[in-house]
Amino acid sequence: MQSTMMNYPLTLPHILDRAARLYSHVEVVSRMPDKSLHRYTYGEFYRRSRALSEALLKAGLNRGDRVGTLMWNHYTHLETYFGVPCAGGVLHTLNLRLSPADIAYIINHAGDRFLIVDDVLLPLLEKFKDQINVERIIAVPLTRRSVPDGYDNYEDFLAQATGKFTYPALDENDPLGMCYTSGTTGRPKGVVYSHRALVLHTLAAGLADMLGLTQRDTVLPVVPMFHVNAWGIPFVAAMAGAKMVLPGPHLDPASLLELFEHEQVTCSAGVPTIWFGILQALDKNPGGWKLIPGMRMIVGGSAAPEAMIRAFDKHNLRVVHAWGMTETTPLGVVSHLKANMDHLPEDEQYAYRAKQGVQAPFVDIRAMNEQGEIPWDGKSMGELQVRGPWVAASYFNNAEAQESWTEDGWFRTGDVVTIDPEGYVKITDRTKDLIKSGGEWISSLDLENALMSHPAVAEAAVIAVPHPRWQERPLAVIVRKPNAEVSREELQSYLAPKFVNWWLPDDYVFVEQIPRTSTGKFLKSVLRDQFRDHVLSRVE
Ligand code: AMP
Repeated sequence: MQSTMMNYPLTLPHILDRAARLYSHVEVVSRMPDKSLHRYTYGEFYRRSRALSEALLKAGLNRGDRVGTLMWNHYTHLETYFGVPCAGGVLHTLNLRLSPADIAYIINHAGDRFLIVDDVLLPLLEKFKDQINVERIIAVPLTRRSVPDGYDNYEDFLAQATGKFTYPALDENDPLGMCYTSGTTGRPKGVVYSHRALVLHTLAAGLADMLGLTQRDTVLPVVPMFHVNAWGIPFVAAMAGAKMVLPGPHLDPASLLELFEHEQVTCSAGVPTIWFGILQALDKNPGGWKLIPGMRMIVGGSAAPEAMIRAFDKHNLRVVHAWGMTETTPLGVVSHLKANMDHLPEDEQYAYRAKQGVQAPFVDIRAMNEQGEIPWDGKSMGELQVRGPWVAASYFNNAEAQESWTEDGWFRTGDVVTIDPEGYVKITDRTKDLIKSGGEWISSLDLENALMSHPAVAEAAVIAVPHPRWQERPLAVIVRKPNAEVSREELQSYLAPKFVNWWLPDDYVFVEQIPRTSTGKFLKSVLRDQFRDHVLSRVE
């Protein structure tokens, strides 16, 4: 027997068309480089996205051709999110925080045929333009009407479209976009998303216990649109009909808070670094901005420390912790309390909320150590492995990296986790950042979390330093809050009641800042190099 259901393709044009039909009045607000606000509606967004599709096809775009974008978060970037894939092209978002050499490598490796670049980023492009070979560069005139000689003007490009355009036939397994991992080691690796993966990710991400966006929301992704589909938010917002607010290049706390207030944002998303800055601004000037009470902040990319979740609650802002990767489109697990946890003491609730969360539907998870799959007891540690319809099965043109998949087809995340009986995953480390002392693992993230709850500590990174007897011992690298004082001994006695003795750092060093990757993660490999020869003097 066969089912009697239609075989309807899961492709992006449906989301775009439906958004226009149902939500054409909903606004998209963008902050421009000169800080002015650009506003238009989903109706206009639809018209211009389709104009981009039509113009790209007129320019000779073939199915599967890559279109690179070097852009901040604003309405034009949003148009490429839809206009490129709906024309059968592949949207390749480029991380503008990488070095020029890395961006050039990525463009060449991906084989980008077209590039769309913000005019304010042309100086960056000029640094590597002679190292790349793309057919056409289209500049977006954000700051003036014209663009420099040698570039196509995005507005003129769009103006060629007639509006009489039908989407090319798309298969749900056709490629839609690609993104390179921002990895802390080795060359960046490319992940290619399909329409099907992206559509299913969008449906799941929209669920109430995931990102939970509706047409009553106003969502502001601080997470750059060049970083893993801005965590899927533009697609989920378009499906839900949520108002979008795009912050352009202005990511400092005051600019963001002003925009949260002005546009009455109900949901935002970004990495912990952004939220630390916002918290400091709020603590300095409580009540300085009239934010929507209960505004949700999706925090991922690095661990959201429990202290941060608590501190935001005091401002009536709710952190939702989530975990994902470039290879997982990105959402894998999200942390909301289950209803049966409502009666738990506050401390236990916070402990759950500080975990990365439970698996999204259709994302299978397991954690493995040398003995095999670990039990879900909240104590055993193993490497998190995942599989699902929006999890990568390989990297683009990179056979060597195939060891990232197990023989039975799971993706090895490189994150070490515990999973508790309720199914909450807690990241304890990156495999590469693990501290192995006398054969036992110490969780650097647990130590960092605890240290960052100390009132004088702004940031803490705990790394492994070689040790003659224990192979490795933890060293805590601390950034103090402005004008705050704290000693090694004070920090050690602060941690002592919270951990077994052998987990406690052997030593503490104080620094001005912790090096970060282009996406805001601690760059522990640099710290390990810096402190490789550090002589540990154990604090008692
Ligand atoms: P990327 O591919 O650049 O998005 O990086 C993915 C990696 O970021 C993951 O493998 C984790 O190591 C880290 N990561 C993402 N979200 C979290 C989180 N909520 N807590 C801890 N680490 C995270």
